[in-house]
Amino acid sequence: MSETALIHSFQARQLWHDAGWRGDVAFAVDDRGRITQAQGGTPQYLDGWVLPGMPNLHSHAFQRAMAGLAERRGPSDDSFWTWRETMYAFAACIDPDTLQAIAAQLYVEMLKAGYTQVCEFHYLHHRPDATPYAQPEAMSLALIEAAREAGIALTLLPVLYMSGGFDGRPLSPRQRRFGHDVDSYLRLLTTLRKLESEDLRVGVALHSLRAIPEQAWRGVVEHDALKTGPVHIHIAEQIGEVQDCLATRGARPVEWLFDHASIDKRWCLVHATHLTESETAQIARSGAVAGLCPTTEANLGDGLFPLARYLDANGVIGIGSDSHISISPVEELRWLEYGQRLNTRHRNVAARHAGESVGETLWRAALRGGAQAADLPIGTLGEGARADLIVLDQDSPLLAARDSRSAMDSFLFAGNAPMVRNVMAGGKWVVRDFQHRDEARIAARYRSAVERLART
Ligand SMILES: [Zn+2]
Repeated sequence: MSETALIHSFQARQLWHDAGWRGDVAFAVDDRGRITQAQGGTPQYLDGWVLPGMPNLHSHAFQRAMAGLAERRGPSDDSFWTWRETMYAFAACIDPDTLQAIAAQLYVEMLKAGYTQVCEFHYLHHRPDATPYAQPEAMSLALIEAAREAGIALTLLPVLYMSGGFDGRPLSPRQRRFGHDVDSYLRLLTTLRKLESEDLRVGVALHSLRAIPEQAWRGVVEHDALKTGPVHIHIAEQIGEVQDCLATRGARPVEWLFDHASIDKRWCLVHATHLTESETAQIARSGAVAGLCPTTEANLGDGLFPLARYLDANGVIGIGSDSHISISPVEELRWLEYGQRLNTRHRNVAARHAGESVGETLWRAALRGGAQAADLPIGTLGEGARADLIVLDQDSPLLAARDSRSAMDSFLFAGNAPMVRNVMAGGKWVVRDFQHRDEARIAARYRSAVERLART
């Protein structure tokens, strides 16, 4: 640290650490936006409850603009697969400017809700007619720029999408703009990795087992490009997917994945909904993150993750808002717990030992797993971590008479009105008194973009 470095000091009335709340904690932020023990100047007093911001480990940004457009019953039995048709039609209209407008609005909403980082599982690569843009990474750049405008940390996961089914069939016309062969994908990855910074990490996403032909699999997962950084994959979200995998590859998706790749803590298995007992134990043992998206999984009728068994095996979880039908870490975690309660007719499922708080258990677990999936120094407010934090509204009546045993559960379970008052991301206040620093401009541009989309 040079002598001229600017240090901002803070004093928090209550600060969340992995072990729980601590009263009257001093901390400081350096000019790189990292937490430091060095002190400088008079501290700013933070009167509310201060928590590390939540990583959002799974996002398809463009889908935010179609939230609520697939809730009317169709002519046949509606399912994930009929929703996907609506999503494909919508995706066909998005260009880089529209994507940036939607993503910036989404990221502002995330910050206001308490997410301070996002993993973008990005497959909308090419023009609608499937030809590459003049700059092949144009859509990725739109996401990077949107994250910069909003001030949120980004783990960009360009998606490799090669085939339209487990049998290796070609992409359908609507899927073609998502597609790459391995070489062009690796070129994209190399280009994007050169842009990595304090706020931007670039990892790999494999869309799903059905999107990578069996004969291409080994060349992909054994490639040097996959030897470092996070690797995310959609897996076992749908019963139909499990059945197709069994029929064509003779194994269930998670079983097949573990037989054909070295799964470790760099991996994030998104959804992992339909699991046998042994698959559940296998994911837990591997140290990989189960990337759970409970509001989207509920909205799409996916099913329920075997949470209790997985936590008992010390499995790692994180949360994502995925389709963005809801943008709230609180609602995501609440639904994760409520799904289990409705299914088992028991309460306090995520807390596995007497006396444990459900809210604390889930927030702690999702911070840890989210940070792991994002591969960024986040999820804690310890030395060297990004200064990504949220301050709850000390004036909220719901937090009156709450102490360190009850504050987190009131935040998680009772806060329907937003309780996140101030948000710092990378050492900068991006939300103050419930307002994002650039929300009027970003929302106005978003409105014009979706009005344009509605006319196409
Ligand atoms: Zn997804």
